Amino acid sequence: MNDAMNELYQDVVLEHKRAPRNFGHLAAPTHQAQGTNPSCGDRIAVELQLQGDKVQDIRFSGQGCAICMASTSMMTEAVKGQDIAAAQALQQHFRAVLTGEETPEDAPLGKLISLAGVRQYPSRIKCALLGWHALMHAIAQHGAAGGDGAVQAAAHDGATLQTTEAP
Ligand SMILES: [Zn+2]
Repeated sequence: MNDAMNELYQDVVLEHKRAPRNFGHLAAPTHQAQGTNPSCGDRIAVELQLQGDKVQDIRFSGQGCAICMASTSMMTEAVKGQDIAAAQALQQHFRAVLTGEETPEDAPLGKLISLAGVRQYPSRIKCALLGWHALMHAIAQHGAAGGDGAVQAAAHDGATLQTTEAP
């Protein structure tokens, strides 16, 4: 990645950190989950309003580093109004890019490609995945996502990221 691209990516991350999208709480979330990343101190919660198979609305709250906050902010923009299956597919591509299993050029990431540079910093990958991890955990609640797929997607990152269903 050249310097100009790096600067562009940093601009996007800082802009989302400064003004996170969909930050706050839903009046009546149908699904929610919390995630913590002990290695960095990131703590966020994701609230969903699912309607059928669709992510009707989404909010997140909490505190984290710039990469965590920006990634979660961009995640909410990317999945709002999408089908659960589309959100899961996006999560899998995003994770595959960050872990080096997929090249950014080949993955259908849309705006999320702005975070692809994080793959060069292994210690920050968990920061970028935390919001997605919480999203998958929230979707998996009550088997709303149609079962095993969502649970497995969340379990991939489970070794080091901790999520709990909100009471
Ligand atoms: Zn972090």
